[in-house]
Amino acid sequence: MKSVMDAKGLDTAEKYVNDVYNLVVSRNPSEDEFHQAVKEIFDSLVPVLAKHPEYMEQGILERMVEPERLVMFRVPWVDDNHKIQVNRGFRVQFNSALGPYKGGLRFHPSVNASIIKFLGFEQILKNALTGQPIGGGKGGSDFDPKGKSDQEIMRFTQSFMTELYKYIGPDADVPAGDIGVGAREIGYMFGQYKRIRGNEAGVLTGKGIGYGGSLARTEATGYGCVYFVDEMLKDNDLSFEGSKVVVSGSGNVSIYAMRKAKELGATVVACSDSNGYIYDEKGLDIDTVQRLKEVERKRIKDYLNDHPDAVYVEGCRDIWTVPCDIALPCATQNEIDEESAALLVKNGVKAIGEGANMPSTLEAIECFQKNGVLFAPAKAANAGGVAVSALEMAQNSMRMSWSFEEVDAKLNDIMKNIYSSCVQAADEYGYQGNLVVGANAAGFRKVADAMISQGIV
Ligand code: GLU
Repeated sequence: MKSVMDAKGLDTAEKYVNDVYNLVVSRNPSEDEFHQAVKEIFDSLVPVLAKHPEYMEQGILERMVEPERLVMFRVPWVDDNHKIQVNRGFRVQFNSALGPYKGGLRFHPSVNASIIKFLGFEQILKNALTGQPIGGGKGGSDFDPKGKSDQEIMRFTQSFMTELYKYIGPDADVPAGDIGVGAREIGYMFGQYKRIRGNEAGVLTGKGIGYGGSLARTEATGYGCVYFVDEMLKDNDLSFEGSKVVVSGSGNVSIYAMRKAKELGATVVACSDSNGYIYDEKGLDIDTVQRLKEVERKRIKDYLNDHPDAVYVEGCRDIWTVPCDIALPCATQNEIDEESAALLVKNGVKAIGEGANMPSTLEAIECFQKNGVLFAPAKAANAGGVAVSALEMAQNSMRMSWSFEEVDAKLNDIMKNIYSSCVQAADEYGYQGNLVVGANAAGFRKVADAMISQGIV
């Protein structure tokens, strides 16, 4: 009798999920990335909704997929040739059930409403998983920082903040960095915000250490990803020690993931930028990568000037042809498709840890899971960055700062807690070892319960 009822509950939940998903697709036409992020989460929620029909009765999914607010604005600025340029700025304030909107700003030519909404939607559950009081938001611009002078970056970010300041504040919405937005951009934005509104340290995170930033924030996303994967490996009698690791990207997330993996005894054999990848079976020199990308702002192929024995291959997607034990995609969304996933599996990959946001397509995730590859999904594995951002907010409120060791220890604890809540939630809903279901279910329940407590808002 019970199983008949269970089956009926699952059917009802599945129908509800499909109905809301179809609504999302028809109401947000041609926003493919947003649809993909919604689908990934919704597929995990069927058993949760079957067990807790109150979420369906309360229309939680319909409410959750609709941002509380989405602002889009003109960002005019003048380039070094005195030519007027116009970019488009965005901020999505997706969900404030758990606290002020929190999430990064991305400056990249691919930025549009779909990208910002997929990132903002993921951020809701990611932030919930950290256990900290932060809601979900995201923003950015289609501005391309590549090849721009320092003065151009400053003029653009000042213009961007001259509009964005109206919507943000330490208790309202707290942006941070993401692709194309690092310490330099946060510094310029903070300076401009201060001219308009005064010194409110907690309005942005990822600030410089000298003016309210937190130690270990720079390292947090990469370190956090490796801490999470390390937990997953240990749980399966594996380890970083002696393993061969491929890390895509060469930005902030990638650099600190490489550093921590190396510290734990791995050999990092390849990393990339949007043009191509470098490979050295003896292990990459991460200092050179960091100097090239962060100080000299050069391309990854210039690594060969310092290390002529390494190999450079044009085309970043081919990095997944490099055989490895552990792959850490830390570049961008959909960088591993089904074909790349199948190659990684064929070459014997044992674990994937997503440092970037949504780097694997739905088909790639399915391929990993079908083949028994351990899979650490982005919203759990890369939550370390935003978690330390929330620690930065806490330090700003207290007007004090913790040591590197204190913040790093808190980060390690947070990542371990996220891992165990994902494992527990996966078990509870009958998907043992499936961290995609675990992360989605655990994050969703926190947000959904808070939404119910706060009424229909
Ligand atoms: N952009 C990062 C993320 O995707 C960090 C956000 C933050 O620190 O607020 O989570």
